[in-house]
Amino acid sequence: MSGAANDFGDIDTIVVGGGVVGLSLAYGLKKAGERVLLLDEGDDAYRAARGNFGLVWVQGKGLGCPAYARWTMQSAAAWPAFADELRERTGVDVELSQIGGLTMCLHDDEMAERAAQLTRLRHDLAQAYPVEMWDGAAVRKLIPQTGPDVVGAVWCPLDGHASPLRLLRALLQGYDSLGGRLAAGSRVEAITPRAGGFHVRTTFGTFAAPKVVLAAGLGNRTLAPQVGLTAPVAPNRGQILVTERVQPFLRHPTLYVRQTGEGVLQIGDSKEDAGFDDGTTLAQLSRIAARAVRCFPLLERMNIVRTWGALRVMSPDGLPIYQASTRHPGAFVITCHSGITLAPQHAGALVDWILGGTEPQPLQHFKAERFDGMATH
Ligand SMILES: Cc1cc2nc3c(=O)[nH]c(=O)nc-3n(C[C@H](O)[C@H](O)[C@H](O)COP(=O)(O)OP(=O)(O)OC[C@H]3O[C@@H](n4cnc5c(N)ncnc54)[C@H](O)[C@@H]3O)c2cc1C
Repeated sequence: MSGAANDFGDIDTIVVGGGVVGLSLAYGLKKAGERVLLLDEGDDAYRAARGNFGLVWVQGKGLGCPAYARWTMQSAAAWPAFADELRERTGVDVELSQIGGLTMCLHDDEMAERAAQLTRLRHDLAQAYPVEMWDGAAVRKLIPQTGPDVVGAVWCPLDGHASPLRLLRALLQGYDSLGGRLAAGSRVEAITPRAGGFHVRTTFGTFAAPKVVLAAGLGNRTLAPQVGLTAPVAPNRGQILVTERVQPFLRHPTLYVRQTGEGVLQIGDSKEDAGFDDGTTLAQLSRIAARAVRCFPLLERMNIVRTWGALRVMSPDGLPIYQASTRHPGAFVITCHSGITLAPQHAGALVDWILGGTEPQPLQHFKAERFDGMATH
């Protein structure tokens, strides 16, 4: 691939960032017929998409912002067709299982808090919201291996999970099969708005295009201001433990424990402000493991074979940031902390909007300007 700046000739859109958000957008843009160049810093960059938990999750999302609950529900509803499309196009099965998920509660006050949240969300949404509170007996009926400490759970039939790594592979293969161009190992160092588009300088050379879509996760923070946008995102660390393969017993994912198609259990429920440290700590791993064992006592006998830490891409209010630059038309910033759940929306509705279609109604709630004047670190 040429490293020379072209004259807005052979690229319509440059997508910066090859995590799950950038790949979903690049795939969707390519499907829509755009000539796309995807620039990615590389495998040693921070990449939440590589270390995440793989949930397609609806319940609990959108508290205080019903538009986010709706956006998430639409995405969850689109997931089965999206997974089928990826399988047909690439042969990659992303292992979607979407037959309902649970958030286990270990205390009555946890149940009460979740029930209050559910009441509030239902009231704000003013539409059907298929989430229920279950008592311990109902949970044990569905999953007999549930421990006696579980007093109940929140159940949502729209919830599910998929393999994050298979999803990345499917998106990349799909993008490639459509003729998408990728420059891996290309860290974007500077973006300069020019008449008719943008010059994007990377470690690999300079590229030009009329449109640039910033989907660089935590990298958006420094890139967005170069095109008149803001993305005050910060890292939030999650730690995950993985067991050896065991007999399948957990068909339904829970918020903190899920069994993958390969038979391993993934366990994780930490949210920490640890800066850019994506390591693990014994204290957090022990806490996560102890809670998981209370949910499913049979975990106590399983060996842990891997652990990792990964950095979420968090906005100050936890909601996505989707914004088009008014100062430099043609530039967009796209970031969220639920890139698996929202992948179908990113490859679909968001792509239509980037290409000049109607702005999806919820987007007015997701503009970065909501943070104007807010102290962000
Ligand atoms: C522990 C954990 C659990 C999670 N669980 C879930 C879950 O269950 N369900 C769910 O929906 N989401 C989950 N997430 C969130 C999900 O992983 C993120 O929403 C998603 O990964 C964010 O994707 P991204 O593509 O924006 O960012 P990233 O995955 O971080 O990717 C950013 C990409 O941008 C590139 N980049 C950065 N700067 C530059 C630059 N200057 N030039 C070129 N390239 C650059 C990097 O190389 C990287 O590939 C979880 C995240 C974590 C950390």
